[in-house]
Amino acid sequence: MVLTEFEKQLLNEVNVENEWKLLEKFSKLVRVSGTEEEYEAAEYIINSLRSYGVKVTVYEPELYISIPKKAEFEILEPVSYMPNHEDKAMNPKTSSFSKNGVYEGEIEYISGKRGASPLSGFFEFQLENGRDVHGKALATEGIVFPAVAYAAQGRGAAAVVGISPGKWTHEGIITPVWGTPTLENMHMIPNIISVSISKVDGEYLKQLLNKGPVRVRVSAEVDTKWRRCIIPVAEIFPTGNKDAKYILLHGHYDSWHVGIGDNAVGNATLLEIALVLHKNRDKLNRGVKIAWWPGHSTGRYAGSTWFCDNFALELDERCIAQINCDSPGCRDANAYEEVMWMDEMEQFGKQVIKDVTGKDSKGMRPLRAGDYSFHGIGISSMFMLLSNMPEHLRKERGLYPVGGCGGNVEWHTEHDDMRVADRSILETDTKIYLLAVYRLATSKLYPMDFRKTVDKSIEIISEYARAAGAHFDLTPVIDDLKTLREKLDAAYQKTHQADREETVEKFNNLLLKLSRIIIPINYTKNGRFAHDPALEVPAYPDLAPCRELSRLPAKSDEYRFLQAQLVRGRNKVRAAILSAISLVDDFLSGH
Ligand SMILES: [Zn+2]
Repeated sequence: MVLTEFEKQLLNEVNVENEWKLLEKFSKLVRVSGTEEEYEAAEYIINSLRSYGVKVTVYEPELYISIPKKAEFEILEPVSYMPNHEDKAMNPKTSSFSKNGVYEGEIEYISGKRGASPLSGFFEFQLENGRDVHGKALATEGIVFPAVAYAAQGRGAAAVVGISPGKWTHEGIITPVWGTPTLENMHMIPNIISVSISKVDGEYLKQLLNKGPVRVRVSAEVDTKWRRCIIPVAEIFPTGNKDAKYILLHGHYDSWHVGIGDNAVGNATLLEIALVLHKNRDKLNRGVKIAWWPGHSTGRYAGSTWFCDNFALELDERCIAQINCDSPGCRDANAYEEVMWMDEMEQFGKQVIKDVTGKDSKGMRPLRAGDYSFHGIGISSMFMLLSNMPEHLRKERGLYPVGGCGGNVEWHTEHDDMRVADRSILETDTKIYLLAVYRLATSKLYPMDFRKTVDKSIEIISEYARAAGAHFDLTPVIDDLKTLREKLDAAYQKTHQADREETVEKFNNLLLKLSRIIIPINYTKNGRFAHDPALEVPAYPDLAPCRELSRLPAKSDEYRFLQAQLVRGRNKVRAAILSAISLVDDFLSGH
């Protein structure tokens, strides 16, 4: 596929100078959720949309937000030392949802092990030795995130001190509870004082610890409460068809510090796309909703989760796909090697990137992160972070993995300013997002290929089956999937041969219904109307524990409990696949 004449014209309408204006404005605003400067940013977005003539609906929910206020780390013995660096980004920081308080006493160091890939490094963490540090402070390597807080809490630590992998300390959040907590999951908010220190201070602490006991004072102050937040949603629909199905394009506009790379660049991208699509709305067959979320950084995706909860049934009925926009257009980030997409979107996503940039791309299964709050509804998804610094360049520069800014380590620090944005990369990335949305909103057939999803599912579940060996039988699941695959083949063939409007419409509806069935069982444990925590969620989480079975002593209680759990999980997954098969059957027989 190449760009059509109209697509070329459409992409040429992107004006990076408009985007730059937003960056200049936002470079003076610390957009912490529920504060005046965030409201000012919302106003800029809303006023710009209105001046373009774009319809915008503004929601003002109260969200549960935790704002870090103050962090201190002081060595009391054997020396007296308190970091007070001129470069503010090197000073201690606490985390959103840290426990408030002061700890004074001994500190111990235990090394930790993170996930191997740059991104799983943010989810998986284990402390290396089994030492109990009850009532003490625990220092370990790395940026503090939920798994680190849990690991420290699991050892009985009263405070956790994360030693940054670099010169600067990074802001972050330690609760994995997705969006507003419920009575059922509020106990998962960590209950530990959390502070990060820079690498130099960490090295100094470790040197002292090598010689003997060290006493410290660690203090954290956060302000956790309900705050009014603003969610602007632009609605661009074909004339006379406001009830059309739609694509949801979104990204967070709250930030740490002035957050240019994370995520003013994304905010500008969305605004420019709103303008271009609005001007061309007579060309669309479907609608586009564009949302700017608050509460991403200090409420664990509280904005997108609120929207999902409050419009769940509308999203279920009408949302075709969701596209997230975080940290595009950053300095030196011109590779597309870690793009996230669900399997059914992979081919489509690759094609869009190729058609805009001429480059090949590599993707991965979306992590449980980044305002992907729609797995329960079952919405096909693509992109989160898009462009990144090429891996070889990061290695060359000795950079460590971060969760945005295209891999620039200014991420979540005082240095994430205008220097992190790149005009020409921002223009290219905006075009990628624009083309993806435009094609989704116009292509006759929805571009999702669920045959890919089923193939990948067979691969994953076969792997689980091998791990389970004789302990658990997954053959029925694999057989069901193979049946679904064959029938899908027939369905795709039937549709590609037909050009009757009616068949196309039925096929599109079929794809939508399949997504609602397959995505929840593949991506969630908690089902359609709840939100799994921001911890690692394996594929088919109800079957994934198959991998543990052979490690448990045969006939032990745990072994039998896990068997019962897996029988239930298998029922759940099979019931879903069987209902998918029956939908495809109906389509094939013309119902
Ligand atoms: Zn971000």
